[in-house]
Amino acid sequence: MATDTRLRALPSPPDYVEHGGRRVTWEPWRLYHVMCLPARVCDGCGSSAEAYCAPGLVHPLPGDTVTVTRPRPSARVPGRSWEQEVEVPMWPAYGLIAFACPDCDHVDVYDTDGGFARVDTAQPTLF
Ligand SMILES: [Zn+2]
Repeated sequence: MATDTRLRALPSPPDYVEHGGRRVTWEPWRLYHVMCLPARVCDGCGSSAEAYCAPGLVHPLPGDTVTVTRPRPSARVPGRSWEQEVEVPMWPAYGLIAFACPDCDHVDVYDTDGGFARVDTAQPTLF
């Protein structure tokens, strides 16, 4: 109950709506334990309390593509198929994650596609 109240009191996910030229939409804050993350300490107040997090969905630019493998029926052997690599339009993907300190509301954003590098939300990257 206390957690629900606290989550509602938090400011909305970060006002960081573009990443590398791509539009970002944020999901609401949630208390979600991410097992694989190293323990982190808040830059704002030094708290190591478990942070609230919000995933950020990064939308592709027109013309962005990704390589996938698709089964393709064999032309010579009926009933057989082989894997073929094809370029398809990229889809929106969760490429960012924001953490909010439960003690001081300090927000950090990380690039989960870029080796979990800290994102400087004050200066959007231009690559
Ligand atoms: Zn803090």
